[in-house]
Amino acid sequence: MQLQGNVAVVTGASSGIGRTIAETFAREGGRIAICDIDMEGAEKVAAELKAKGGEAIAVSMDVTDEAAVNRGVDRVAEHFGRIDTMVSNAGIQIVHPIEEFPYAEFRKLVTIHLDGSFLLTKACVKHMYPQKSGSLIYMGSVHSHEPSALKTAYVAAKHGILGLARVMAKEGAKHGVRSNTICPGFVKTPLVEKQIPEQAENLGISEEEVVNRIMLGETVDQTFTTMEDVAEVALFLASFKSNALTGQSIVPSHGWYMA
Ligand code: NAD
Repeated sequence: MQLQGNVAVVTGASSGIGRTIAETFAREGGRIAICDIDMEGAEKVAAELKAKGGEAIAVSMDVTDEAAVNRGVDRVAEHFGRIDTMVSNAGIQIVHPIEEFPYAEFRKLVTIHLDGSFLLTKACVKHMYPQKSGSLIYMGSVHSHEPSALKTAYVAAKHGILGLARVMAKEGAKHGVRSNTICPGFVKTPLVEKQIPEQAENLGISEEEVVNRIMLGETVDQTFTTMEDVAEVALFLASFKSNALTGQSIVPSHGWYMA
């Protein structure tokens, strides 16, 4: 029970990595706010956690809507009495070569990832600073460090998130708030399942070749990072065991990227 009583706001928690983080935190005694634009999905996950004896609430939240983010975070603080952990995880993927990348899609992706992380941080520190404690966890990517063709918006946004997290390590320090980024490699989630065929079409190669290029030729089973791999890093960053860590980027990628 590493997170007994710890209150976590997790965005994008209806699906994929966010959902697994919520399940892992609940397993360790955390109290979780399942925040997502997909409210039906959020309610389903919250109900599943409660059925297993956990404490969870579903919160309807579009992370690009400042009023909705503030309202949602304040509701969590009111419901549970405090906020200890923020996991800014909501995200999408769009791939195109730049000459075919619609500006509106670039803005949409950057706004969800980067503006969303800014708005969520601002809303959460309002509750963490007076407590003199808190852990800000950002979902970066290996693309916070390493570029990839076709991903101008995603790579730019993920580099930006890393910068935001590092600034928050500086600003949060005197308030007892830590700030770190998880930068996963390729994880099989709905986001990636949609991306592989799009990338194959854009590059004119097979889906297998896309995966092989990313996995440096090793077999998929050995090198696909799992949602559980990422969630265990989030658990460490949320818990007191990582007390000395702030301003760091942790890269669960099975060696795809080595910082
Ligand atoms: P996913 O598609 O399974 O989940 C994304 C979630 O975000 C969904 O529940 C979706 O409804 C929610 N969401 C989308 N837009 C939103 C908005 N405006 N407001 C609130 N919620 C919104 O994707 P995933 O693969 O689990 O990705 C989660 C995070 O992990 C993303 O930030 C992604 O960039 C990052 N990531 C994923 C991988 C990977 O290989 N899957 C690798 C590195 C980083």
